[in-house]
Amino acid sequence: MMLDYLPQILFIIALGGAILFFAKNVSSIRRNINLGRDVDRKDHKNLRFKKMMRVALGQSKMVTRPIAGILHIIVYVGFVIINIEVLEIIIDGVAGTHRIFGFLGPVYDFLIGSFEILAFLVLVSVIIFWLRRNVMNIKRFLSRELKGWPKNDANYILYFEVVLMVLFLTMNAADYQLQLSGAPHYFNEAGIMGSFPISQFLLPIIDGMSVESLIILERTAWWLHIIGILIFLNYLYYSKHLHILLAFPNVYFSNLESLGKFKNLDAVTNEVKLMMDPNADPFAEPEGDEEEVPEKFGASDVQDLNWFQLLSAYTCTECGRCTSECPANQTGKKLSPRKIMMDTRDRLEEVGKELDKGNEISSDKQLLDDYISREELWACTTCNACVDACPIGIDPLSIIMDMRQYLVMEQSAAPAELNNAMSNIENNAAPWPYNQQDRLDWAKEEA
Ligand code: SF4
Ligand code: SF4
Repeated sequence: MMLDYLPQILFIIALGGAILFFAKNVSSIRRNINLGRDVDRKDHKNLRFKKMMRVALGQSKMVTRPIAGILHIIVYVGFVIINIEVLEIIIDGVAGTHRIFGFLGPVYDFLIGSFEILAFLVLVSVIIFWLRRNVMNIKRFLSRELKGWPKNDANYILYFEVVLMVLFLTMNAADYQLQLSGAPHYFNEAGIMGSFPISQFLLPIIDGMSVESLIILERTAWWLHIIGILIFLNYLYYSKHLHILLAFPNVYFSNLESLGKFKNLDAVTNEVKLMMDPNADPFAEPEGDEEEVPEKFGASDVQDLNWFQLLSAYTCTECGRCTSECPANQTGKKLSPRKIMMDTRDRLEEVGKELDKGNEISSDKQLLDDYISREELWACTTCNACVDACPIGIDPLSIIMDMRQYLVMEQSAAPAELNNAMSNIENNAAPWPYNQQDRLDWAKEEA
């Protein structure tokens, strides 16, 4: 009796284990993101929602590069929609039923038929993606930062998708054949459940197999398919493919301000205003409440960044669209905005592992210098091309600016040319080394 329920028991154990492991990973990511400083992104809820629907769900920025964009949309739509079938697989697995949604009749036939066509398109797209990454010399896939794990990670997921789609089609082909053979548990008096526009072409391969062998084939493909999906779910934590989930909150919470608008520190802004106002009394008490001066200016490590920047580090797809638009990178500088995001995530994960062990965040290492060099930071022209190019609302420039702010305000470690310009602004209210009184001398000379 117990043996009759063994498959369902095993399925519930596998499903429960995968969900628990996933929940543990989600809570680690939440904890790590919450290490960041606070930033208010609760405003303009409607605007944010619309942006999320357009950019994350509608993938509106993907098609600026049409080939990669359209292929990505096929894989994305295929993957999301095909996984609606996972719901049926889960219910069948727990209840021991066969195609529980089959009662939907023509609607079910349409759904299964469209899943199969999408699965085929996903297979074709994934093969083209693999060729683009591994055979064609596309510059943004050849950068230094993609060597090793990032390249393997991208390939693993492509292999994964091929395996999942092949299992899905094999499972359907065997199921179809079993329904046609009138095998118990598969046969339905109302007729064939589902339509199989792609997997029907596999029937000649399995033609002649006994019902027992077909059941073994169908069950094996069914089990491997669902186990593969559960593994995929938990692999996300270690992979750039976290963007499948995090692109939505990342776009929702992304910056709504104009791209060129920089975040100013109130304490510094007030001081500069005072300095620039010829009528201001330099000895006057500050108005209102005492100014809030931050404990530390800028960022030298991940916990100095804000939570949105840390969320973005986990969300980055490593697509390199930002780097390929970056003028500093194009002119051979060391800077790559994609690497800025990858380094931030690597450091954040390192910090997370320390916390997992119950340790304090070690100051032996930090984001600045150990991951991101000063040369990279000062190579940035602050043009915002990377921010504009990112298809999921990531702002690598904000991290660069926060780290520069730390160098300037905490370490006085700006390049000499900048230090000169800043001293001049402080002393002469202009970047040039001339006294304010001499500013109009050129006009006298002209006269
Ligand atoms: S803002 Fe900086 S990192 Fe971004 S594209 Fe421009 S130069 Fe490159
Ligand atoms: S920051 Fe955006 S554009 Fe750059 S690699 Fe990451 S996802 Fe792609």
